[in-house]
Amino acid sequence: MTRAALKAGAIGGVIGGVMMAVWLMFILWLIGTGFWTLLNLITNTVWRSAPLGSKFSLTSVIIGLVVHVVVSFIFGSLIVLAAWRLPGPRSLIIASGALFGPVIWLVMQFGIWHAVDPAAAQVITPWVFAVAHLIFGVLAAATAAIIASDEKHSAASTQLTVADPLSPPAHAAGQQAALGAGPVLADTWYRIPAFYFACPTTVLGPYDDAPTAPGSAWQDFELEIAAVIGTAGKDLSVADAEQAIIGYMIFNDWSARDLQSLEGQLAIGQAKGKDSGVTLGPYLVTPDELEPYRRDGVLSLYATALVNNDVVGSGSTAQMDWSFAEIIAYASRGVMLNPGDVFGSGTVPTCTLVEHLDPAAPESFRGWLHDGDVVTLRVEGLGETRQTVRKTPAPQPLPARPNPDAAPAATRVNPAPAKIPYTRGLHEVGKRVWAWMLPDGGFGWSNAGLVAGNGASLLVDTLFDLPLTREMLAAMAPITDRAPITDALITHSNGDHTHGNQLLDSSVRVIAAKGTAEEIAHGMAPEMLVMTQTADLGPVATGYLRERFGPFDFGGITVRNADQTFDDRLTIEVGGREVHLLNLGPAHTAADSVVHVPDAGVLFAGDLLFIGCTPIVWAGPIGNWVAACDAMIALDAPTVVPGHGPVTDADGIRAVRGYLVHVAEQAEAAYRKGLSFVEAADNIDLGEYASWLDAERVVVNVYQRYRELDPGTPQLPAMGLLAMQAEWFAKHS
Ligand SMILES: [Zn+2]
Repeated sequence: MTRAALKAGAIGGVIGGVMMAVWLMFILWLIGTGFWTLLNLITNTVWRSAPLGSKFSLTSVIIGLVVHVVVSFIFGSLIVLAAWRLPGPRSLIIASGALFGPVIWLVMQFGIWHAVDPAAAQVITPWVFAVAHLIFGVLAAATAAIIASDEKHSAASTQLTVADPLSPPAHAAGQQAALGAGPVLADTWYRIPAFYFACPTTVLGPYDDAPTAPGSAWQDFELEIAAVIGTAGKDLSVADAEQAIIGYMIFNDWSARDLQSLEGQLAIGQAKGKDSGVTLGPYLVTPDELEPYRRDGVLSLYATALVNNDVVGSGSTAQMDWSFAEIIAYASRGVMLNPGDVFGSGTVPTCTLVEHLDPAAPESFRGWLHDGDVVTLRVEGLGETRQTVRKTPAPQPLPARPNPDAAPAATRVNPAPAKIPYTRGLHEVGKRVWAWMLPDGGFGWSNAGLVAGNGASLLVDTLFDLPLTREMLAAMAPITDRAPITDALITHSNGDHTHGNQLLDSSVRVIAAKGTAEEIAHGMAPEMLVMTQTADLGPVATGYLRERFGPFDFGGITVRNADQTFDDRLTIEVGGREVHLLNLGPAHTAADSVVHVPDAGVLFAGDLLFIGCTPIVWAGPIGNWVAACDAMIALDAPTVVPGHGPVTDADGIRAVRGYLVHVAEQAEAAYRKGLSFVEAADNIDLGEYASWLDAERVVVNVYQRYRELDPGTPQLPAMGLLAMQAEWFAKHS
């Protein structure tokens, strides 16, 4: 039993148990008192021959009665209080308390006896009282132990059987579709009520902070209502199950969708995706109070879910496919349900984030819950819960085990010649100009840069996740301690160049081309990339994406957008150095900026250059990218830092230009022949470019060329294009 749950007043059964324990112990003491009074009466009249109703016997009886009642009540309460305050098994505390009671009473009894009638104490042998009290004590202790063990069982199962039937089909279909399995529910859905027994120990009060699930970047909530069991029962009929419900309250089934999606692939039930928290509260409402809301035997309560006071969804609790009574009857098959057990209704359709996720348009999704978000659930007749989401620290690492059935990963070596050793870390590439490099240049392994002037520095791009960016900023500290970063140029909108922006000091001016800022503003939430690590996209794409994107941590990222934008060019001064920012896009993305540092002869090309790895055309047109290559060559910078791959020079730019022209020509020829873009990509001869890493990106590049040639070519989502690259890779390696 958590303190939070007590605070919520959520577990009616536990409270009932406590009341029961107090009451039963009080009864026990009363019986003891009655018996004791009788004993007094008998001993006084029989053994001492005092006439019944004489002053002596009456005094003795009244004192005995009053003191017994008062002391037993106080003592009983203290035991129960101690049982709930002290650590350790309650049954043991109650039992030992009950056993100690008579001993204390025995001592007091003799004291009183001596005070009232010392002679009596001489006459009645103490052993009679001692034995009598011990018998009562043992009886009381045994009964208390039975009550307490019952209570303990009930408290434990209260928590163990927080059951969530996931019942409303509309919600289930919406969630299933969002997680990539389509909207049609299996026939089994209509044969048995889907439900599971949930984790007991993470019950939260209605206003408690709600921790995110450790290791999850997809924290979600579910607005449900809970039915609480009031009477124990097993193998219940539907009618008996209805009678077993003592009341209702709001139930928030906190969910980690990424973990749920991953665990769902094992097809053995709910685990870490569901056990980070269950909110109950704010109070228990008995069924009679809700009678006015009953429609055709089902509770119809209007419910609303809000995040930061924006309505996420609303609807009626009447949309359960299986009634509470049916679910409870099913769950009770062979299982004892106990007072305090809680059944969730399943999510009220739309009152959760996952149903609002369209996998084909992840950029339209508001994003999952982040630290500080306030989730409010309101249900007619049941009140409101209001909780702040709190980010949980990363879990203890648990490395993946090698999959014996997986094909061994090919060794990846970037084949391009390197002007400067291509190793992870900071390399000075010109006078007080550094490149931060992350081999091998594949997906997410991007380069960044630093230009230091007098007392000020310009950062070129951040990295794909927060740990990578922290590592880079720490390595730059010896330079930036004396020449702090005052400006940061974001070359383009992709996450491997922007996700670390939030780690920059708020005083840093973040600059980007207007098109880049717009793409960032309308792009998908960074944590959506977790789907590359968790989604089941079939045997080919799943492994490919996990291998490519598995090393990154997409949690906790809130992209910081530009503070200042420019159209085509902007010249800035960095600690006395002149730096030119040129937007040469659209090409790789909607806007692609390069950074030219003329006094050092260095050009940071962003993702207009992939060296030794294959360029990918997310935006195009390809002709504009070719023109961008010409513009970069014209800058005549002896040292060129690409967005991916080793440091290069004009030859590297020419190679990328050559690739783009080659692919565009091949694609166009295939298009004229009437091939589909998939066939075109499949049959393309990459020639000298075949050895570049990530050759499968040709699928996207051919597709973009087809879209240029035939604007009617349907637009494909990025995930679909990634899956097609996986197919190409599998076929050609
Ligand atoms: Zn990149």
